[in-house]
Amino acid sequence: METLQKVKQDGLQMAKDYVDEVYEKVIKQNPNENEFLQCVKEIFDSLVPVFTKHPHYMDNSILERIVEPERMVTFRVSWVDDHGKVQVNRGFRIQYNSAIGPYKGGLRFHPSVNTSIIKFLGFEQIFKNSLTGLPIGGGKGGSDFDPKGKSDGEIMRFTQSFMTELYRHIGPDIDVPAGDIGVGAREIGFLFGQYKRIRGNYEAGVLTGKNPRYGGSLARKEATGYGTVYFVEEMLKDKGLSFEGSTVVVSGSGNVAIYAMEKAAQLGAKVVACSDSNGFVYDQNGINLETIKRLKEIERKRISEYVKIHPTAEYYEGCTGIWSIPCDIALPCATQNEIDETAANLLVSNGVKAIGEGANMPCTLEAIDVFLKNDVLFAPAKAANAGGVAVSALEMSQNSMRLSWSFEEVDAKLHQIMENIYRNCVQAAEEYGYPGNLVVGANIAGFIKVADAMIAQGVI
Ligand code: NDP
Repeated sequence: METLQKVKQDGLQMAKDYVDEVYEKVIKQNPNENEFLQCVKEIFDSLVPVFTKHPHYMDNSILERIVEPERMVTFRVSWVDDHGKVQVNRGFRIQYNSAIGPYKGGLRFHPSVNTSIIKFLGFEQIFKNSLTGLPIGGGKGGSDFDPKGKSDGEIMRFTQSFMTELYRHIGPDIDVPAGDIGVGAREIGFLFGQYKRIRGNYEAGVLTGKNPRYGGSLARKEATGYGTVYFVEEMLKDKGLSFEGSTVVVSGSGNVAIYAMEKAAQLGAKVVACSDSNGFVYDQNGINLETIKRLKEIERKRISEYVKIHPTAEYYEGCTGIWSIPCDIALPCATQNEIDETAANLLVSNGVKAIGEGANMPCTLEAIDVFLKNDVLFAPAKAANAGGVAVSALEMSQNSMRLSWSFEEVDAKLHQIMENIYRNCVQAAEEYGYPGNLVVGANIAGFIKVADAMIAQGVI
């Protein structure tokens, strides 16, 4: 008995040492890339029980390999603004891992985009895409271009210039970009038009998030937000809870936030607050979603305009204050690290029961600790927001078949995929000794499929 115990302890120590050693190397090779290192740390720490149980992953140097992108390109994007001045931005595409399918992941246009952000998003994407159960590898891209305040002509000239370099790296069976922050249907349209013009070929499956009029999937626009709510719904159900009658706070008012609010409201919740990068609105009567859609999707205005239309609502400058509003369920759907330890403690002291990460890495590692220690149900991004990329993969299927499914068909498939992801995370967490910890469950379930495929394909 004692010997068995000793062998187990030795195995655990060996796994911990291995993870620490590789992480130290990652820090040395990627200094000052804080977002990337944060994401790597979260994933690596979850994998210790996997290496303890299956040491062959260590023998195959799987961590060293998976953390190193297959390739990353950065490129110059020159374009002419409305005043005739030449502007220059930096473009990025990371092709992180193609073990289970063509690289797949969105493009982000935001001034904060840099190597660290692209690498964190790309690394996270590998595991997320694996969790969907669909054959897609991990990639990501974008630019430090700021679409805010730009005319349609400027957006078009920038995206055309961006695609004039990007096209040589992508293709329906190579790498399939989509949208992310600052890249919606308008930008995808311009990108697709330019790709088609350069290639002289109608390759519909080269980009997803297209308008359904020319090859986009119905329900893609709704998929990330709806999917997050479907995932949280499963998590609540397991504890005998539901959205019905609950108070919900959602950060952001972009693609993910709007459709998370819509589905939460459809399930009987009252969404009382949402935000943009300038501030947040609190409406105790429940946010009027038609107003938000008009302001954000059509008029591209600031969220502060909401209170002019609904004078009983309140507007506050700054984003972080939104987490001081008491709620049962919080859905951070704006950007990375928007909930820190202080905000997490505030949410807990106000009685929050569940957190669903609609955005990528919206909670810091310290904030996640606060939630887990206080038994708050926690749905991690790579599982909870995987519905967007899942429906993107369904868009690729429809493009290959040259067929379109109805909204209801796609939504039903999305719902099923989110239920499967939830069950797989729960099962992996249990199997590896962390029952109820979906952070660990998601990382392990996502990792194993990719790691096994990498090993099966030899040392490449
Ligand atoms: P959008 O550009 O449509 O919306 C982003 C929203 O977040 C806007 O309301 C924006 O406000 C706000 N925001 C952006 N940056 C900041 C910041 N630094 N501080 C505070 N608020 C900010 O993007 P999406 O809705 O597509 O993406 C939101 C999140 O969801 C991102 O983390 C993205 O990676 C993730 N995600 C998106 C998917 C998709 O399918 N679109 C799929 C999976 C994950 P403002 O208008 O003022 O900039």
